[in-house]
Amino acid sequence: MPMRKLFVLWAILCMSSSCYSDRQAVNPVPFDRVELTGGFWEERMRTELDVTVPFSVEQSAPAVERFRRCADYLAGRSTELPEPHRFISSDLYKVMEGVAYSLMQERNPELEKFMDSTIHLIAASQLPDGYLYISHICGNPNVDEMGDRPYSWVVHSHELYNVGHLYEAAVAYYQATGKRNLLDVAIKNADHVNRVFFEGDPAYNGGKPVNQAPGHEEIELALCKLYRVTGNSKYLDMAKRFLDIRGVTYVPDGEGVMSPSYAQQHLPVREQRKPVGHAVRAAYLYTAMAQVDALTGRHDYEQALKSIWNNLVSTRMHITGGLGATEGIEGFGPEYYLPNKIAYNETCAAVANVFFNYGMFLAEKDAQYLDIAELSLFNNALAGISLGGNRFFYVNPLEADGRRKFNHGTGGRAEWFNCACCPPNISRLILQVAGYMYACSDDEIYLTLYGDSRTTIPLKGVM
Ligand SMILES: [Zn+2]
Repeated sequence: MPMRKLFVLWAILCMSSSCYSDRQAVNPVPFDRVELTGGFWEERMRTELDVTVPFSVEQSAPAVERFRRCADYLAGRSTELPEPHRFISSDLYKVMEGVAYSLMQERNPELEKFMDSTIHLIAASQLPDGYLYISHICGNPNVDEMGDRPYSWVVHSHELYNVGHLYEAAVAYYQATGKRNLLDVAIKNADHVNRVFFEGDPAYNGGKPVNQAPGHEEIELALCKLYRVTGNSKYLDMAKRFLDIRGVTYVPDGEGVMSPSYAQQHLPVREQRKPVGHAVRAAYLYTAMAQVDALTGRHDYEQALKSIWNNLVSTRMHITGGLGATEGIEGFGPEYYLPNKIAYNETCAAVANVFFNYGMFLAEKDAQYLDIAELSLFNNALAGISLGGNRFFYVNPLEADGRRKFNHGTGGRAEWFNCACCPPNISRLILQVAGYMYACSDDEIYLTLYGDSRTTIPLKGVM
């Protein structure tokens, strides 16, 4: 592979400050400062803007309706209660994150109206203390999946997973438009989570800090984004605390989805050496570990990450960059278990592999991570969406006969899924791809993903 590190080729000096953090050696140049100027990625972007984004907004109507009903319920207006659902809100948040990126590419009053009206419903569904999870707020949880009260079953409820995606959408919308409406919801929730999980809030868990890591990682990497955009170190501290209590304060005891390794809770994260369990959860966790290392400059997880990465790349990753060969757990099988026809390789896992490897690059400044990010992006993540932009793979085997219904009930691409994590995940990645093209330090510029593009990068160290 070509050496990517470009020593300073040019520097356009301007009055603004350089990259956003002094503590981090290398910072990505954010998507809102990079313009796609043609070629492959501009074509993908055009399809996103013309087809995928409006299509995804349409598909999100049931999730928006749940917020409308929740807001009505809280306001005392008569309404049908929203059906219990653990994570459909997260799919909407991912769609909203994608819409935010799209608005950077092209202003669209209709989409902005969709965002603001949906944000209004989300804000109206949030409790005054910041809590946000429809089924508990409306008092009709599926107790087996969600527990009988807030945060009583965080190993499966997805309460923190959902709000992690909320934070990502909020940061994107703020960056894209300067509007704080969703960011304020996110900050209110993050402050609430900090109180309940790490300080103690009389209204939750008998006033004792919950102090338990979520079963589905996501909030950790989202808190890193919240920290980047607010500059409030509380959120970076929260991300680190969630990482450091994982596999320490709570370890599930059972089989399958309750096995200790399924959600990477079998060991403290800094003692973990191999990728295990559900692949999307794992890769979101490793992404957060890499980001926290990069942002704190402490490298607490460096040994774990390097060992996990080496094992992943040499024994548990398909040639396409796909992760999670095993269908039952949507996760990693034994070393070298890499079947073609029955490979699972969830689209979200490939997307997460891009995030993980880009995070590793930012922490380590080593081009080998970008090579894997690129491999996974082009060969598995992008396969998750049709050229037309409105048909999707959840599952990405390397061989298909058109008869076996490998893709959650279909033998080819599907229009959408009951569990719709994948379509908005690949969509939001394409929409933010400009943010993966450049990185910089005080006196260096890195070209991290090739594509026709233009940016201005102010450097502190070059006159
Ligand atoms: Zn998925």
